[in-house]
Amino acid sequence: MSGREINKGYEPAEVEKRWYAYWEENGLFKADQSSANEAPAFSIVIPPPNVTGVLHMGHALNTTLQDILCRYRRLCGDNVLWLPGTDHAGIATQNVVERQLAADGVDRHQMGRQDFIQAVWQWRQKYGSAIIRQLKSLGASCDWSRERFTMDEGLSAAVRKVFVELYEQGLIYQGNYIINWCPRCNTALADIEVEHETLEGHLYHIRYPYENEEGGPVVATTRPETMLGDTAVAVHPDDGRYADISSDHVILPLTGRKIPIIRDDYVDMEFGTGALKITPAHDPNDFAVGQQHGLESVKVIDDNGIMSEAAGDFAGMDRFACRKAVVSALQEQGLLVKIEDYEHSVGHCYRCATVVEPNLSKQWFVKTRPLAETAVNAVRQEQTRIVPEKWKNDYFVWMENIRDWCISRQIWWGHQIPAWTCSDCEKLTVATKAPEVCPHCGSSALVQDPDVLDTWFSSALWPFSTMGWPEKTPLLERFYPTSVLVTGFDILFFWVARMMMMGIHFMEQVPFYDVYVHALVRDADGKKMSKSSGNVIDPISVIENYGTDALRFTLAAFAAQGRDIKLSEKRIEGYRHFINKLWNAARFSLMHLEAEHPEFAESDLSLADRWILSRLKRTTKLVSESLDNYYFNEGANGLYRFVWHEFCDWYLEAAKPALYGKINEKSQNAARAVLWRVLHDVLILLHPFVPFVTEEIWHRLPGTADSIMRAPFPGRDPQLSEINADAASETGMEQIMEVITAVRNIRGEMNISPSASLSVLVQAEDADVRANLEGHRNMIVTLARIADLEIASAGEKPKGTATAIVSCAAVSVYLEGVIDFAKELARLDKEITKLEKEIQGLDKKLNNQGFLAKAPADVVEQVRQQHADATEKIQKLEANREKIQQLESVQT
Ligand SMILES: [Zn+2]
Ligand SMILES: [Zn+2]
Repeated sequence: MSGREINKGYEPAEVEKRWYAYWEENGLFKADQSSANEAPAFSIVIPPPNVTGVLHMGHALNTTLQDILCRYRRLCGDNVLWLPGTDHAGIATQNVVERQLAADGVDRHQMGRQDFIQAVWQWRQKYGSAIIRQLKSLGASCDWSRERFTMDEGLSAAVRKVFVELYEQGLIYQGNYIINWCPRCNTALADIEVEHETLEGHLYHIRYPYENEEGGPVVATTRPETMLGDTAVAVHPDDGRYADISSDHVILPLTGRKIPIIRDDYVDMEFGTGALKITPAHDPNDFAVGQQHGLESVKVIDDNGIMSEAAGDFAGMDRFACRKAVVSALQEQGLLVKIEDYEHSVGHCYRCATVVEPNLSKQWFVKTRPLAETAVNAVRQEQTRIVPEKWKNDYFVWMENIRDWCISRQIWWGHQIPAWTCSDCEKLTVATKAPEVCPHCGSSALVQDPDVLDTWFSSALWPFSTMGWPEKTPLLERFYPTSVLVTGFDILFFWVARMMMMGIHFMEQVPFYDVYVHALVRDADGKKMSKSSGNVIDPISVIENYGTDALRFTLAAFAAQGRDIKLSEKRIEGYRHFINKLWNAARFSLMHLEAEHPEFAESDLSLADRWILSRLKRTTKLVSESLDNYYFNEGANGLYRFVWHEFCDWYLEAAKPALYGKINEKSQNAARAVLWRVLHDVLILLHPFVPFVTEEIWHRLPGTADSIMRAPFPGRDPQLSEINADAASETGMEQIMEVITAVRNIRGEMNISPSASLSVLVQAEDADVRANLEGHRNMIVTLARIADLEIASAGEKPKGTATAIVSCAAVSVYLEGVIDFAKELARLDKEITKLEKEIQGLDKKLNNQGFLAKAPADVVEQVRQQHADATEKIQKLEANREKIQQLESVQT
């Protein structure tokens, strides 16, 4: 014994805490920015979680996949930078702090801007690192010494510089614009922040009287209160219904205002009467028409959703109350032609679900088209690769239809826009530093724009701002462009597309070579996890119950490209068994491994030795290929198969006689050396997936001193390269495994006691197969518990046996004296009767219309599955009964 024995059970909590601290203390996550380091650079910037964030399964998946790549690359010898940080998350954070203050009866407006911002910073200091601690509990090997925050000094300087440069290049402008406006949050919303819902509403048909003749066009609207802000009625130039009218104007009801009739082929003649009310201040399409025709914009709904002075008699009313008032006033005047039920799509604020009001407002915009063009080309020319490819098309479609990006937000928490207006000359100054006097007139009465920038503006700069831009830092020099961005598809446009635009514009190089888009984590039935459905699996409690490695391995094992992950605790529990299996295999192996590496000659290797080395070689190749190409599930599943079904199930069993010295010293030494090699390499292969348990075992393995994080990935180790994958040993071993499995199956099917030793006849046509089986007679006899093994050429199937045909031979087990035919028949009959009863019960349920109608779909599915399982079982038992009856007739 080597004194390296390990505990009987694996205790994740203690092990995880100990090794994470060790890794951090020993600087194992640190990137080397010096130019002297010649190792290839590999870099990832973390998608910065919101500072208000609480770890959910999406983070757990995203973080696990990045960590797998980073740990893998370190093992390959790369100089790895995984740059972490958090996002200030403007609106989200402001909301959290506002709610907290409201609980104490404080309103931010009472506090004033400076004090409120102070309060947010205090909140951030107190609670803002919770998400970072949670990322660490997942084992994330980020270079924490370089942690950044989108509002820290360096990143804020980068934001101002980008704003000023884009402004000077004419790519940022200020303009009146129809924007999505939330009257509750009092802020502009991006198109993507508006959630559309189809609602039952009404279509109101209103007559606008002609100025100098009878009648008038009828317009239709779902929002009649906006008519107070109409500044024209539009008809199609070819519309015969309006060809002969003498009026150029109509009288806008309830206001008495005279508004022009304009002709524009934008109008759809087929819709209603072919006349369209134009409200430039409250509808994006009308705004565009208004600009073309030089129409005035009359804003009748203010920023709080209240009717403005311009609404005349209706001023001061809530917009929805006004809708009712306008409708009844029109009714009284006989101008309401009809009201129809009408289903239409209504935009809601993504945060508070208030109905969004298209609103005219002065906002800052990024002119995105020129930036988008280069970002599209970069992907077309494969400077950046999107994986899986199916997302590429979405990216193109979105980028080609991109609209200017409204970047101003009417909140306090964020990067305040670096633009100042002079109160004296009213001119605007945009600068990275607050000017002391107005550069236009010398006045010192300067007022900074109160708005802040959209949160995504600063995160768009993340790949280079975090590395010290605008300075030319060694970090940028070494690690930009980054190697890969790992992200969910939900922020492909919010974030990835904008990083592409900004990265290319300011760095003249794409921000990342690869974008790996991972799937969603759903519940076991494929439903989205949500608090309201009560199906959320909390990663922190999973870690407490099953250990981090089990969670990580589960996520990786199901991370197939383009397929969502269906997660259940049961699956995680299953992979905890795998971690325990590895632990137990290591425990067994370590008992046989000495501090000194035993010498052996290649000719001392047994078939099983050669076979497992060959399988190891293939598994190594599979893991590195799958991680190189983001097939995380293939790597994980390959390792699972290798460790459980090849190393544990077969090799350890086959090698026991040699390991226990029952053959000779040479084969014992050879088996020990192979055992060491396999355990050593498999720990390294597994390390990216399950970092904690592998580090723990690694330190008990003779001949290892340093952290496993500094070990070389096996493919680069010349010792293993010498032992090639060996097809002959694989074929030979497969033949033996087939025969053993056949005997084991017959034992199971025939209910033969495990202790009964058997007489077996193996008939193989091929002389090479016979020679191979003969050569490994001991292994077959031991592993299949055979007393008497005869290996013969093909021939008649012997009587009184159960036979299985495998690809290399026919395997027959003599049953006489092994089983009591009568007793076995009675047992089978009993089992069959029991199953028949079960099926009857299930049939009853499945024929019950009430059950089918009322039970949840998954419950019904479960019953169907039980039915199918029982039916299959019965068929097997009946087949066995038939076999035994035949045997019985032979015997008598
Ligand atoms: Zn809102
Ligand atoms: Zn001035």
